[in-house]
Amino acid sequence: MRERILPWEAVGVGSLVLVNGEHPCRTLPSRRELAAVGPKNSGVMLERRAALLLEELMAKLRGWEGIAPVSGWRSLQEQRDTWEEAMVKEGPEFTWKFVARPGHSEHHTGLAIDLGERREKIDPICPAFPDQGICGRFRRLAARYGFILRYPAGKEAVTGIAHEPWHFRYVGTPHALIMEERGLVLEEYIQLLRRHPYGERPLVWKGCGLAVEISFLPAVPGDRAQLLQREDWPWAVSGNNADGFIITRWNGTAIRERVMGKERAAG
Ligand SMILES: [Zn+2]
Repeated sequence: MRERILPWEAVGVGSLVLVNGEHPCRTLPSRRELAAVGPKNSGVMLERRAALLLEELMAKLRGWEGIAPVSGWRSLQEQRDTWEEAMVKEGPEFTWKFVARPGHSEHHTGLAIDLGERREKIDPICPAFPDQGICGRFRRLAARYGFILRYPAGKEAVTGIAHEPWHFRYVGTPHALIMEERGLVLEEYIQLLRRHPYGERPLVWKGCGLAVEISFLPAVPGDRAQLLQREDWPWAVSGNNADGFIITRWNGTAIRERVMGKERAAG
């Protein structure tokens, strides 16, 4: 067993952080944690891992031929400018509906991206992202690469945001797949995981030849959380940006069996 101490501040870090009207973004990524996405000089950046997975997905679909990156990581100042510009141009009703308050935008995390169907004029705030063609194919494949449609129709009361077919959020796998299978938005998924305390009753997910255990480790402001982990199982930790950590561990026995099975098949 290996011990790991998680400081309270780490609750705001990781690919599963919940950023919404209630939970502001606490930890902004540094410039070197960001990477450019899309065709050259797009100026759109994402956190490195999210950028890598998005590029893989786009390469698979030749997606950049029909989809444009509209907005990725945003600084606090950029969000202030977007907010003020929307207020002036579109008015308060539109702004409150479609633009997050500065500090409360998922775009600050570097894990969210707005994508738009390529056309002569792309709306910078509400880009078109239809369900057909290349956009539809992107949406159907996104979860396999760790991306979710963050503000779906019918969940406005939970997310507090109107349906935004263009806004995608990286949460990683298998989380994106579980959320898609169960029809959950991030608020609901974080809530579900609270019912799976670490060390007691993990949520078990099986798919892609893997078995994964996901659980929740609560944290207290100002305090530290202690994690004991089997060294032979790969695992990952993400804060939920509210009250604890989400621990994801891949069942090492299942992985070993799978690798050995492959080796047997190859040999
Ligand atoms: Zn967005």
